[in-house]
Amino acid sequence: MFKKIFLFLLFIILFFLTSSTKNLSLSTTSSTLEDEFLKSISQYKSFNPEMIDLYYQEYLLNHNLVLSLNKINVPDFFNRQNMFPSFTFEGGPFVNKNYYLTKNFIPDDLVPVTISKVNRKNEVMLINKTALTYAKLLFEDAKKEGMNLVVFSAYRSYIKQENLYQQANNKNYVAKAGFSEHQTGLAIDIATLDTGLTSYFEKTREYEYLTTHAHLFGFIKRYPKDKNTITKYPYEAWHYRFVGPELAKIIYEHNMTLEEYIYTYVALN
Ligand SMILES: [Zn+2]
Repeated sequence: MFKKIFLFLLFIILFFLTSSTKNLSLSTTSSTLEDEFLKSISQYKSFNPEMIDLYYQEYLLNHNLVLSLNKINVPDFFNRQNMFPSFTFEGGPFVNKNYYLTKNFIPDDLVPVTISKVNRKNEVMLINKTALTYAKLLFEDAKKEGMNLVVFSAYRSYIKQENLYQQANNKNYVAKAGFSEHQTGLAIDIATLDTGLTSYFEKTREYEYLTTHAHLFGFIKRYPKDKNTITKYPYEAWHYRFVGPELAKIIYEHNMTLEEYIYTYVALN
């Protein structure tokens, strides 16, 4: 009998204990951790006071304020159906199948590509100035190792992308105008002259070198293998995106896509 009463009391105590920790009320006495959490998270623009309990539950799991905000505010980020204007993060404008650049977006820091590239009639190949500085270092380093990297494509205007899309036989492989990362001036297609942008490139030393060294110069492989459910692009061995060496290091070391980086480190609105 006493045993039953004891168990019953224990159950009641446990019930109240668990329900009180679940309730993060802003007005009642909260612990230091909760205070600090509230102070830090409320500084973000995307912070919604009504969601505080949900943010906190997330935070207890992942200890990342930005990730907690994004998981609650934008739960459908990897599976978005709608289109949104591109936003700029520390690595430049974010562009994918759901985030687009407008027709008017023309990067103002474009310069001619002065490293090894394919020459096409009536075309001056352009690229972001900082991306070129780093690409130069990358190409020089590869050359020291006896390899010859070649740029096949860099900046592409909205109009040019529009034409490419209209001419494409298989529209799955060509981005719609506004949705191509090449419009940022920060994307670059690199391969060897022999292979071009084909799967044969993956069999070259240059490919191996790029895969393991590009991040040191601020470039990430933007559409990696086995990540196509996230990027919504098939594997592209040659397509690199400049984000700067600091971000590239994080992305490379964590085996992330740009989408995953954004979701983890950039508070989305
Ligand atoms: Zn590309």
